[in-house]
Amino acid sequence: DNWVHIVGGGLAGSEAAWQALRQGCKVRLYEMRPKKLTPAHKTGLLAELVCSNSLKSLNEGSAPGLLKREMELLDSLVVKAAKEARVPAGQALAVDREQFSGIISKTLQNNPNFELVEDEVSSLPTEDELLKSGDCWIVSSGPLTSNDLSKELLKLCGEEDELHFYDAIAPVIEGDSINRSVVYSASRWQEGEGDYLNIPLNKDQYNAFVDEVIAAEKMPLHDFEDVKYFESCLPIEVMIERGRDTLRFGPMKPSGLNDPATGRWAYANIQLRMEDREGAMYSMVGFQTKMKWPEQKRIFRTLPGLENAEFFKLGSVHRNTYLNSPKVLTDDLSFKRNRRILLAGQITGVEGYTESAAMGLLAGRAAAAKVLGKAAAAMPPQETMMGSLLSHVVSGGRGDYSPMNANLGLLPTIPKKRGVSKADRKAEQCSRAFEKFQDFSSTI
Ligand code: FAD
Repeated sequence: DNWVHIVGGGLAGSEAAWQALRQGCKVRLYEMRPKKLTPAHKTGLLAELVCSNSLKSLNEGSAPGLLKREMELLDSLVVKAAKEARVPAGQALAVDREQFSGIISKTLQNNPNFELVEDEVSSLPTEDELLKSGDCWIVSSGPLTSNDLSKELLKLCGEEDELHFYDAIAPVIEGDSINRSVVYSASRWQEGEGDYLNIPLNKDQYNAFVDEVIAAEKMPLHDFEDVKYFESCLPIEVMIERGRDTLRFGPMKPSGLNDPATGRWAYANIQLRMEDREGAMYSMVGFQTKMKWPEQKRIFRTLPGLENAEFFKLGSVHRNTYLNSPKVLTDDLSFKRNRRILLAGQITGVEGYTESAAMGLLAGRAAAAKVLGKAAAAMPPQETMMGSLLSHVVSGGRGDYSPMNANLGLLPTIPKKRGVSKADRKAEQCSRAFEKFQDFSSTI
């Protein structure tokens, strides 16, 4: 018998196990809890939700709603269990967390082809060993992967800076909510083709912005988070603590950018970088922050050109182990350095419970195909929510690789039409993607 071995019984690992079992594989799942807990997990249950009990919206015209519908077409255990354990929360899919984990544990443990090993994994087999045995491994050890396993993963990455222990996410703005009559496009020192949008600020505007950031409410650090790690990706508020002008010499430096309104460098300047080819998403360069989310929206909307900004993602800084997947993985989520070991879940560079489970779903199917000696498992097309997340993971976007949640900026845009509301355009984006997914799922 050939086995799929899975490291980590979280959201991704549980979903991967279910998908591999469905294909007829034998699955051995290694979970270090309850013997060894992560700093966030509290139980020994499979698929424990470490924080909120919500798997976000079920609205069919939203990215999280679309993602769950797609996963259901592939018989997702995580979505099924969530619906069974649902508690009232409007359009959100909130769950009774014990019931949710209980359903998942029971479903897997009742399967005669499933084995649970309650132990930490700290080393992984070589490709030669796996080719000999016919087995495959999936690593889905999550954002709080144990130290020894992190070291082992480094070997599969090749280089040290392909493994990150912290996430420093800058806000991402919807392209068409930016007021283009206020911002201007240009690259610093005229290098490139004016790829960035720029928000020039005068002295008063800069000082007002700094005051807002100083006064804003911030998220506390978890007690297992250590500020010393943040040195290479400091939140803007920490930079301000080092002096009012730090931002002006850091992410808000105006040098090399002639403001068309004055023909000179502004006092300070914020750059927005295109995150996708169509300009649907722009990230605020260097604007990682731990300000609370409502504060971020309020304060960033005081900036010229961002008065009506809508955000796909807000900034955050937190402990999160993830790999530079576009560099180290192939299209089927296996490592370039070992095609019999796949990566799944948050550690691939997605963000969120459902997104992590979605990557587990794809890895489980891909590993099963390898173990059963079948043709490579088909992957969903990029125009679907799951396919676009996969594409983010294996191909990356512009700029440094950073974790991504399900959002409509990843899908092809629908051009603005007179008389068609934004909500209708979003709904159309989702229904197009879902049709594509239906086509895909009917062929596999
Ligand atoms: P996990 O669910 O963490 O599963 C990984 C599993 O691997 C764990 O059970 C762990 O014990 C096990 N493991 C680790 N190392 C080893 C090893 N060497 N051997 C064996 N087992 C091992 N997302 C949301 O959508 N909403 C939230 O509210 C939310 N809150 C979060 C709060 C915190 C503190 C953190 C860290 C993350 C949060 N996330 C949240 C992000 C993310 O969605 C979750 O972390 C999600 O659980 C990731 O799923 P996963 O399967 O990749 O990892």
